Amino acid sequence: MPHEPPVESPRSLDDAYRLLEGGNDWRPIAGGTDVMVQITGELGEPPERLLDVWHLDELRGISVQDGRLVLGALTTYTEIRRSAECQEFLPALCEAAATIGAAQIQNRGTIGGNIVNASPAGDTLPVLLAADAEFALGGPRGERTVAARDFWVAYRRTARADDELLLRVVVPLPAERRMRFRKVGTRRAQAISKVVMSLAYRPDAGVWRDVRVALGSIADRPVRLRETESVLEGAAARETTADHAAAVLGREIQPIDDVRSTADYRRVVSARILHRLLREEGGW
Ligand SMILES: Cc1cc2nc3c(=O)[nH]c(=O)nc-3n(C[C@H](O)[C@H](O)[C@H](O)COP(=O)(O)OP(=O)(O)OC[C@H]3O[C@@H](n4cnc5c(N)ncnc54)[C@H](O)[C@@H]3O)c2cc1C
Repeated sequence: MPHEPPVESPRSLDDAYRLLEGGNDWRPIAGGTDVMVQITGELGEPPERLLDVWHLDELRGISVQDGRLVLGALTTYTEIRRSAECQEFLPALCEAAATIGAAQIQNRGTIGGNIVNASPAGDTLPVLLAADAEFALGGPRGERTVAARDFWVAYRRTARADDELLLRVVVPLPAERRMRFRKVGTRRAQAISKVVMSLAYRPDAGVWRDVRVALGSIADRPVRLRETESVLEGAAARETTADHAAAVLGREIQPIDDVRSTADYRRVVSARILHRLLREEGGW
């Protein structure tokens, strides 16, 4: 039998916090594009009761404040794609949003849902990791901020407590940072990633600086590749550096084998993506 859990739809954050304060195993639901797939119980435990956050205006909006891009947790992929702020300051996120599902999912799916769902294949997650994003969480016990690098703690597990909502995503916008995004799936739309990568760096007189390489779909959670980054950091932007970095990446990652791809494929493709992004950025 399909499970039909009770739903509460608070109209303000205060009302949502009052519900969360009472315990009861609330499962937030935003766009529902992940939760509704889980509701039949065929994919693990279905939710006991749902806290519908869709009407919480406090979780909406995109703005640039003090050199940071701020996105409400309920920002949909369509809103990201259409946002002048995102296009100007974080185009890699627009590119990621454009690869997610198809129009129906992009109209309803939210960045907050992608983050909290914590799938290792979540397409925005490597972008947020590479961009040093921070997540504002709030609940009856107050607000706090968690860095993206500390948020995904294990397979589909996050640093969010049961009584917390994700409120906002805050992305610092350092001058001259460049970012790239690349996703490889079985086809161009409605494809879950086999490999998804984001690269961030600052060009500095022919040298890579502040390098971040983040990968999804290869481990139990999205990961930063610290060894590969250290090869690139301060190195000359030329082909031999890219060759070296791609080789180190191939040794650094321990990809998974699963229904979507093999470990070998993921290793080879991840190294090639990095090499290609570096080549395109280096212009050789
Ligand atoms: C056909 C299809 C195609 C898809 N394609 C892709 C794809 O290409 N790439 C990709 O990355 N994903 C894809 N997805 C997955 C999904 O669309 C995304 O993960 C989406 O961002 C989820 O957002 P949502 O608002 O629908 O989340 P929901 O389903 O509402 O929630 C997801 C999880 O986040 C929690 N949650 C949501 N909002 C909050 C909040 N504010 N505070 C606390 N917890 C919260 C929920 O409790 C739940 O655990 C696809 C899904 C479908 C059905």
